[in-house]
Amino acid sequence: MDRLLTEIETRRDDLVALTQDLIRIPTLNPPGLHYRDICALVGDRLGARGWQVEMVRATGALGDSEKYPRWNVVCRLEGKRPGDCLHFNSHHDVVAVGDGWTRDPFGGEVAEGKVYGRGACDMKGGLATSIIAAEAFADLHPDFAGAIEISATADEESGGFGGVAYLAQQGFFDPARVQHVIIPEPLNKDRICLGHRGVWWAEIETKGRIAHGSMPFLGDCAVRHMGAVMDEMERTLFPLLAGKQTEMPVVPEGAKHSTLNINAIHGGEPVQDEDYTGLPSACVPDRCVLTIDRRFLIEEDIAEVKAEVTQMMERVRAARPDFRYEIRDLWEVQPTMTPEDAPIVQTVQDAVTQILGKSAEFVVSPGTYDQKHIDRIGRLKNCIAYGPGVLDLAHQPDEWIGVQDMVDSGQVMALALRRLLYP
Ligand SMILES: [Zn+2]
Repeated sequence: MDRLLTEIETRRDDLVALTQDLIRIPTLNPPGLHYRDICALVGDRLGARGWQVEMVRATGALGDSEKYPRWNVVCRLEGKRPGDCLHFNSHHDVVAVGDGWTRDPFGGEVAEGKVYGRGACDMKGGLATSIIAAEAFADLHPDFAGAIEISATADEESGGFGGVAYLAQQGFFDPARVQHVIIPEPLNKDRICLGHRGVWWAEIETKGRIAHGSMPFLGDCAVRHMGAVMDEMERTLFPLLAGKQTEMPVVPEGAKHSTLNINAIHGGEPVQDEDYTGLPSACVPDRCVLTIDRRFLIEEDIAEVKAEVTQMMERVRAARPDFRYEIRDLWEVQPTMTPEDAPIVQTVQDAVTQILGKSAEFVVSPGTYDQKHIDRIGRLKNCIAYGPGVLDLAHQPDEWIGVQDMVDSGQVMALALRRLLYP
């Protein structure tokens, strides 16, 4: 058997222990806890093996503060000859624990071939896997060409501005420095994720006029105006979106269409604190705000996506006297998709075929992840997400990562390293 593959198998206990150590640092986001600790764990480990280690705080980035500094770590091991650099990027933050756990969310318990904990699957298991794969490859082939990089980065769960976006702005993903990127997000070990759909978040506000609630005819109710907007949305916008279909291999099936989520609606008096025992005061709401989360396809243009909503609002206005509104952009992300014939895609595809005995399925993610920053700011197109873990478990209670899945995808990563850096 291939010695590199045996080497990964031999390091199974090390892989489990590293995953446990990462889970035991509760890097909750928000607010962004223990980021420095987890970066130090990764940096100290690789630094002791001769890697260059850079601790990078995203000073001034969205979310960064003295209380909650946004720490990242970038580790690089130079080969003995010139060549390409393969970079593994994992985010180190995890989402809130939530209810329903039967295991300690930060205990790193191991049972029946699974490691449990918040972030086990998304994506500390993937981070540990890439570290073990890189160490094994470098130990076996110290005379490799090019360079290996491993980064653990902040805030992917909240947009990545204090993480990959910041690093990309600092030049860490310049095509002159890095040529191939694998993001070990939990997409399942037999799937290669080429990219993601686009995002437009916006607020729609309808405007009214405040008056006494006993004489609503003296005011103008912003919530009734919003009701008309939502009615128009049901009748025309949702059917329009459902009728659009992409050629991108998005999973699950429903996300092959354009989608729109109503993220929040607020109108009238705010909800009072629980300890407030009084009644509401009688007022006509003078504003109502709807937050929308529109996911769009690579075939759609963002200007057209926005125009559809404006046109819908104009249809409502035509039917309602005194209708006034405003649309505010909150955030947008362009869709991205790495071509199937890109070197990193072909390399990982060959490796998956060798390890699993079948070719990987190409998929596109319904939601975005840090690839957007590597593509747009870093200008690096040769990027995929590939890593162990069952995607559906992300952000769930009793989240776990399968040990065998980590070993298998660790072998895939090690083979990818050898194909690209040990020609
Ligand atoms: Zn993730």
